[in-house]
Amino acid sequence: LIRMKHVEKYYGAYHALRDVNLQVRRGEKIVLCGPSGSGKSTLIRCINHLEPIHSGRIVVDGTVLTDNPAAIDTVRREVGMVFQQFNLFPHMTVLDNCTLAPMRVRGVSRADAEATARKYLDRVRIGNQAEKYPAQLSGGQQQRVAIARALCMEPVAMLFDEPTSALDPEMVKEVLDTMVSLAQGGMTMICVTHEMGFARQVADRVIFMAEGQIIEENEPEAFFRSPAHERTRAFLGEIL
Ligand code: ATP
Ligand code: MG
Repeated sequence: LIRMKHVEKYYGAYHALRDVNLQVRRGEKIVLCGPSGSGKSTLIRCINHLEPIHSGRIVVDGTVLTDNPAAIDTVRREVGMVFQQFNLFPHMTVLDNCTLAPMRVRGVSRADAEATARKYLDRVRIGNQAEKYPAQLSGGQQQRVAIARALCMEPVAMLFDEPTSALDPEMVKEVLDTMVSLAQGGMTMICVTHEMGFARQVADRVIFMAEGQIIEENEPEAFFRSPAHERTRAFLGEIL
């Protein structure tokens, strides 16, 4: 569903992604981890062209991601993204946050967009807060709204960039539970997270990055039991 081949990315002279190769099958769940600055955010931001790449090839659900605006729009419609900071529109209600993109980008009618929004808000167990503004919700609730908002576009895949790391500890679980149920529903997911319990529970593969490179990847059981590389062992030693 998602393919990255020989992807290279520079920020000015800084080489942020080095020959990244990644294939994600439909329905697969990937957890991406690695030290700060290793390029995890850069990698997933390249998938929907929030960052342009220097060379290599990215294909999402059959669309080759070039600088062509039509290709970029297609990919962004297909891939939902959830950030560490929830990025909700503060001046809009929860419901309006969820209906905006489907109405503007997909041309869905307001009635249909609201019906879809209520369905996904119910699914993240926040349906009774639809008329509130983001500031009236807890961090965990806001992040669940951000997930529902992404789902309202009916994406083929979801990208998560440390969705729980800005949350108070007591709210982490409610967001992880939402992600687990999304995973169990068959969604294709790439999750940047250091929540290794989540990785063990849902990941098909855990990928470890350092200095812009994919260092190793494995199914979670083997990844945690017997990491192959010294850098992975050092990293796991720090976070576990
Ligand atoms: P973290 O765990 O801290 O979120 P990360 O693995 O997500 O780290 P990235 O944000 O992808 O790392 O950054 C990779 C490298 O690229 C870092 O060294 C960072 O300083 C650099 N970088 C990221 N964004 C930019 C930018 N817009 N301009 C210049 N350099 C950048
Ligand atoms: Mg990051």
